[in-house]
Amino acid sequence: MADPINPGDDAAPGTPGTGEDVCRRCNGSGQIDGGECPICGGTGTVIEGIGGG
Ligand SMILES: [Zn+2]
Repeated sequence: MADPINPGDDAAPGTPGTGEDVCRRCNGSGQIDGGECPICGGTGTVIEGIGGG
């Protein structure tokens, strides 16, 4: 559990069954109102599960 996981991530990067997706909160910019997006941690992307569940 050493991998940093942002609030918007469903799982750690590389987890089977998950994939990288554009953060819907900041639309991939990584910033909101001039500050770092708290959902994706400023990366602009989040890890989401594929296929739902
Ligand atoms: Zn974001």
